[in-house]
Amino acid sequence: MARKLKGIAAAPGIAIAPVVHFHTTLDRIPTWRVEDDRIDAEKARLAGAIAAVSESLMGLQQELSGALGKHDVRIYDAQLAILHDKTFLRDVQNEVEQHRVNLEVALQRVISRYEGVFAAMENPAMRERAADLRDIGRQLVGALVYDDRVKYTSDGADYLFAADEFLPSDAGLLDREHIRGIVTAHGGKYSHGAILARSLGIPAIVGIEELMQTTTSGSLAILDGDAGVVLLEPSLDELADYERRLREQRSVDERITELRFEPSVTPDGTSIRLMANVEGVHDLENLELGAMAGIGLFRTEFAFMERRQFPTEEEQVAMYRRAVEGADGKPVTFRTLDVGGDKPLGYFQMPEERNPVLGWRGLRLCLDWPDILYTQLRAILRASDRGHARILLPMVTTRSEVVRCRDVLDQLTADLRSTGVPYDARIELGVMVEVPVLVEVLPDVLPVVDFVSVGTNDLVQYLLAVDRDNQRVAKMYDPFHPGVLRILSRIAKASAAAGKSASICGEIAGDHWFTPLLVGIGFRELSMAPVFVPRVKVMLRSFSLDECQHLAERALAMQSTAAVRKLVHEEIQPRWAQQLAGSGEAGGA
Ligand code: PEP
Ligand code: MG
Repeated sequence: MARKLKGIAAAPGIAIAPVVHFHTTLDRIPTWRVEDDRIDAEKARLAGAIAAVSESLMGLQQELSGALGKHDVRIYDAQLAILHDKTFLRDVQNEVEQHRVNLEVALQRVISRYEGVFAAMENPAMRERAADLRDIGRQLVGALVYDDRVKYTSDGADYLFAADEFLPSDAGLLDREHIRGIVTAHGGKYSHGAILARSLGIPAIVGIEELMQTTTSGSLAILDGDAGVVLLEPSLDELADYERRLREQRSVDERITELRFEPSVTPDGTSIRLMANVEGVHDLENLELGAMAGIGLFRTEFAFMERRQFPTEEEQVAMYRRAVEGADGKPVTFRTLDVGGDKPLGYFQMPEERNPVLGWRGLRLCLDWPDILYTQLRAILRASDRGHARILLPMVTTRSEVVRCRDVLDQLTADLRSTGVPYDARIELGVMVEVPVLVEVLPDVLPVVDFVSVGTNDLVQYLLAVDRDNQRVAKMYDPFHPGVLRILSRIAKASAAAGKSASICGEIAGDHWFTPLLVGIGFRELSMAPVFVPRVKVMLRSFSLDECQHLAERALAMQSTAAVRKLVHEEIQPRWAQQLAGSGEAGGA
């Protein structure tokens, strides 16, 4: 059995290849005392290094512009801005002058001071910007110490990049033809390295602290970018299993290219709306919207988290308009600010809480700070006349919370009308079903909303009393629990009885093993990370509605999670394999 290392799944896909260790140059640098008459020479070296790094970053940006999305290529602009920042330049020069240290040492000190400031920030997105500073420091030192940073060539062999972290400039040093995966000891899901890996389509896992101590260059490993797991020195059985999955992944990719723009229908013609979950306008730029029915979940909090202060109404209007206009008439479902819990806002003081996920988060927080809610709703309304916007409320617990939001919307629309500001009068309001008690009161809530969207990530954690981010109990976090499926069935039935649409926007919507069950239970709209849309579409086209319903009935009657998984293994997996083998339209059999 292989040794398993668990990290954060940063970019999906499977890779099997030997690990190759990469090291940073910033730790091993020459040190000397700078005499008075050499200070100007050090400053000249700095100017030379900045020019060299600048040139190489612009070259890399140019080289990658075809492979990366418009937004992601701007990661290098952020680096160029640091490089040419006047305060940074002055601080490095001062360090040389005041302490008589050589430029390499001065750079190391200034960068680590800056890093300390970023690392102490509460906002995780800002904390990850420390990596950009490290990268700049490393490139500058590299330019000073070596004439040229050496480009890695793998001599035609596949490899997994392993390092403390994957930094934007690394993309320029790699043998991109043979890199199969990226695994790092540090970094988060939203670090620039992780964004680049996703954009370049390279499976990646970040945050495996013990990575560099437990692996050696050359040892074979399996990287499972969907599960966030690296298997070291896998057994023959594990290898065979993953090689099968890798083949499957490749045939899925091929099949996907064929089916991408086909309609999302079961073989007997039931349409299922497949929507995308996005975290910002930039995600929309890289979307193939033609393959989807719209945006089922726009997590607006990420735009708030990336900033140093609340965005103004005008800034929000501009952002929501870009999203709505970019969606070409398809719906864009803006979820109102869902901070608190695991998503702090650096510039907004939140109290220390013993149980933050049961605390002041989502709509609860916004209702206590009406200014935040008013501004956001007004901005969404003002953007709504440019296309099809919808509003979705997170972490709703009671009907009265929804009624309060409706009242706010009524006041805002009356105000917009009286001042002649255009908005879409038919804008829909929906609630996320995440808090279990809402299922019980859904018949009372449905009359005051237009749609519901089930946030299974939170709903499952609350139903099973299992923290969704706690590795120790991760095994118990299993949405195949028959109790979860029965709750989903109640939601689908209650919504259908009220004539309101119900979608799922938690991770299970993008898990293709769930697809036939969710359709059988009654869901006709699934919203997921865009990378999963093609797989779900392939699955959808493999089972007739009758078959889905029959499978769901059986699963709902089961008494254990294991029994549901067995059903998936015996009934769903073989059909999937058959569909991928290209044996024509399955279903109806
Ligand atoms: C959910 O809880 O399922 C959901 C979609 O919201 P988030 O993952 O952003 O909490
Ligand atoms: Mg949630």
